[in-house]
Amino acid sequence: MVKSDIEIAREAKMQPIMEIGAKLGIAPEHLMPYGHTKAKIDLGYIESLAANPDGKLILVTGINPTAAGEGKTTTTVGLGDALNRIGKKAAMCLREPSLGPCFGVKGGAAGGGYAQVVPMEDINLHFTGDFHAIAAANNLLAALIDNHVYWGNAVGLDPRRIGWRRALDMNDRALRSIVNSLGGVANGFPREDGFDIVVASEIMAILCLSTSLDDLKRRLGQIVVGQTRDRDQIFARQLEADGAMTVLLKDALSPNLVQTLENNPAFIHGGPFANIAHGCNSVMATQTALKLADYVVTEAGFGADLGAEKFFDIKCRKAGLSPAAAVVVGTVRALKMHGGVAKEDLGHENLEAVRKGVSNIARHVENTQKFGVPVAVALNRFITDTDAEIEAVRKELESLGVEAIECTHWADGSAGTEALAHHMVGLVEGGTAAFKPLYGDELGLKDKIRTIAKEIYRADDVVFEGKASTAIADIEKNGGGSYPVCIAKTQYSFSTDPNAKGAPTGHTLPVREVRLSNGAEFVVAVCGEIMTMPGLPRVPAANKITLNAEGQIEGLF
Ligand code: ADP
Ligand code: MG
Repeated sequence: MVKSDIEIAREAKMQPIMEIGAKLGIAPEHLMPYGHTKAKIDLGYIESLAANPDGKLILVTGINPTAAGEGKTTTTVGLGDALNRIGKKAAMCLREPSLGPCFGVKGGAAGGGYAQVVPMEDINLHFTGDFHAIAAANNLLAALIDNHVYWGNAVGLDPRRIGWRRALDMNDRALRSIVNSLGGVANGFPREDGFDIVVASEIMAILCLSTSLDDLKRRLGQIVVGQTRDRDQIFARQLEADGAMTVLLKDALSPNLVQTLENNPAFIHGGPFANIAHGCNSVMATQTALKLADYVVTEAGFGADLGAEKFFDIKCRKAGLSPAAAVVVGTVRALKMHGGVAKEDLGHENLEAVRKGVSNIARHVENTQKFGVPVAVALNRFITDTDAEIEAVRKELESLGVEAIECTHWADGSAGTEALAHHMVGLVEGGTAAFKPLYGDELGLKDKIRTIAKEIYRADDVVFEGKASTAIADIEKNGGGSYPVCIAKTQYSFSTDPNAKGAPTGHTLPVREVRLSNGAEFVVAVCGEIMTMPGLPRVPAANKITLNAEGQIEGLF
């Protein structure tokens, strides 16, 4: 019988976290242990590493996700373990999971099979408390806003134009839209409000893009919380919120160190959504890992159209990172779905559908190459895939000049990703990378959106709805025109139609709404329905999660 992720994780022979730190040359006094197998890394120590040369950064991205599963996190862990296996000093950088999906549909996010990070239960549940700190900082600002209005509203906030929402790390649709301050004079001025899940909050994006405590405080201060009646921006610093918020976040800014099943170092830090935010782990963790390891493997969320584009255009641009190579992950099952097969029929060999579905991965490869990095494909093998199907994908991609490498890390651990590791070392050492963002800072916001739409989504046109055009003009007038754009659209397709699988063309990108994330320093273009507070499914994963007679957690996956 195939063991579940949690059963495998439970059997892990974890090493004390000090030993994992030692593999990267971190002396014990620079680690702040949270128990025996998790630690935060001292910020002063991180500063002292500034003069170290940077290791090579490899991005793991993927095809448009389907219900069949892709395995980016699993492949990130598999590749990092395999790089260590072939004698390289390698570390991984991943996002922290949110409680919402854990108790909803998706389950945990600590890898799978024999390619996991541990302690799996802790990582998936409260971990080192970062997300709770983010919720607290977010909600402190919310409390300060309503309190400011209550005590006379000296800055002149228009209560109808307060844009700052409350946050909670849970899928709870009941809180999407609420009216607060009900109950009479003593409770303030009632207004419409709502909650976002922590991973969709601007504080999460800010924490993940900050490069120091000073930078964090500066960004928190420049959050735009709302507008006056005359549409002037009101900043968090005008409410004197930035200092106290920084205090709440000071430990959360330190990267977390854990290990893989094979006892290799993994940084797990920050976890912004890949639609409303930029979808990758923190700049602090990536920069620290690059100072300490020769190879750093990191994952960006969703497909490469959303995740990789934002990784390059937002994170790398802003943090001055220069990635050396990228891996696009795909599975035969998911490619079959892109080739038109229904989920129920995935169990049957279908070479024609596989060949057809390759159009999706081929386009992601081509797109990723536009950023100037060499790209390989990792075919994450499921035990149900047939040899003929794997061969069909390899052949199709070969004819396009792309090498697809079969990976069996889920079943075999690092032995299953050795070939990929050797291939990536070859690509990196080949020194062909010449990273460049897709567009320049100076381009207008509309042209930035058009560039992404045409180059990455392959849309024919972009339509800006009335409100979006006004908002863009407003943001540019207020000095936000040089920010990168963060497009929020469905992850299931290159287009805004989640059912348009494969490699759709001829579509239009409708920009419905544009929002400023002034602390994160990007502009969000909302293209389609975007959920910032998910709901739970009819049968949530929470129903199966429990403690067994031995006090172990069951039902996390
Ligand atoms: P992503 O990061 O792309 O969302 P993950 O790596 O988290 O994907 O994998 C999603 C789920 O699929 C995990 O539960 C993992 O155990 C499972 N999975 C990944 N690869 C395989 C595989 N080769 N065979 C079976 N299950 C897999
Ligand atoms: Mg993942």
